[in-house]
Amino acid sequence: MHRKEFLQSLAVLPLAGFTMKLNTLNTITGAFSSTDKMPVLFLGHGSPMNAIEENEFVTGFRNVARDIPKPNAILCVSAHWETRGTMVTAMEHPVTIHDFGGFPKELYDVQYPAPGSPALAKQTQELVKKTEVKLDDKWGLDHGAWSVIKHLYPKADVPVIQMSLDYYQGPRYHYELAKELAALRKKGVLIIGSGNMVHNLRMVAWDKLNTDNYGYDWALEARQKMNHFILDGDHASLVDYSAQGKPFQLSVPTPEHYLPLLYALAQQEKDDAVTLFNDKAVGGSLTMTSVKIG
Ligand code: ZN
Repeated sequence: MHRKEFLQSLAVLPLAGFTMKLNTLNTITGAFSSTDKMPVLFLGHGSPMNAIEENEFVTGFRNVARDIPKPNAILCVSAHWETRGTMVTAMEHPVTIHDFGGFPKELYDVQYPAPGSPALAKQTQELVKKTEVKLDDKWGLDHGAWSVIKHLYPKADVPVIQMSLDYYQGPRYHYELAKELAALRKKGVLIIGSGNMVHNLRMVAWDKLNTDNYGYDWALEARQKMNHFILDGDHASLVDYSAQGKPFQLSVPTPEHYLPLLYALAQQEKDDAVTLFNDKAVGGSLTMTSVKIG
């Protein structure tokens, strides 16, 4: 935005809340110029092996990246970073974290050297009013982030920050907190939630991992209902997932892989189209269903 337009846009702001908005605008315009509203993604990441395998899910990730303008930066909410309170990574060079065990050496050799963005971390911190977002210099990129983002941007040339999940908070809190990130979409920031909507590792049918689209009845039922709610824009039912009966309870035994979905959905505005991709079950008790908003 040119300075003149910026001043004009300030002129139409109502007086109430002016100071807050001015501060917010000043901060955000500090690092990134205004863009068209970026789409938002929820990515079902599944097995860490998706980082190095060639399969239809990886193809789905690559295809969706082709449909999206190249972002100025990425803010990723991964299932694999839970903290007390909310944090954002704020280092210049996040390390690649291999937060899993028992996989081939080839997977541990993967590095994803995308830069961080201390500026975006600071902006995110200032944008969120619901809680005090803390700047982190110890985490990095966990596999919930790098195993999928590497397929979107294989050159690792888009800065990435992560935002943690506060494990003391319930789904409504996360959904409302996520809404405060909305302004980032118009600064070229791609918001990504990375998890799995149906994710019950204790019930995986290990002998059926290679059976195409194999899901238990409850997993398929939950998937169908979740997809229906998503495409209908019925976020209230998705936030209140624990009241949706047994199939949802089995599909979401712990919240961390489901909550990143709410971070993505919370960005949805009336004019945003919503599409699903990678919509398949794996090993009975997982789904890879992913969502593109806008
Ligand atoms: Zn995971």
